[in-house]
Amino acid sequence: MGDRNPRESRRRFLRATGCGSAIVLAGCLGEDISYAAGESAVDRPEDWCFDELSESVPEIEADAVSIDGIERKDDDELLSREEAAYQCGPVEGNVCGTCTYYIDDRDGDAIGACTEVEGEIRSTDWCALWAPREKIDEE
Ligand code: SF4
Repeated sequence: MGDRNPRESRRRFLRATGCGSAIVLAGCLGEDISYAAGESAVDRPEDWCFDELSESVPEIEADAVSIDGIERKDDDELLSREEAAYQCGPVEGNVCGTCTYYIDDRDGDAIGACTEVEGEIRSTDWCALWAPREKIDEE
């Protein structure tokens, strides 16, 4: 299911996040786009963002459902980021923000959660469980 056209996935993501232009995209994604001289995003390790993500999830997000209405698993059933092959940034244009398991930010810090993976989850990242949002075309 993860083999969709990356360009279409990107369009769907932009529609879902309300980010229609490149000018506002960086701010909309909450992405740190400031790299050291000579460093590019592809030079970063796959887990470079882990330090900025808490291992715990705010109650308001832990008790919430995903964008497709899926309930979050109990804490002892969640996968660790490592087990889910979580990485910072998209894979083939797919990101958590377009995943059926993503729980949108509810406390205003621009970071959400996941029904399957523990800890805070960024909408701009990805893991091996990624599956397309069902309701994305209805919005
Ligand atoms: S891609 Fe993985 S971590 Fe991200 S929302 Fe989906 S299942 Fe959760």
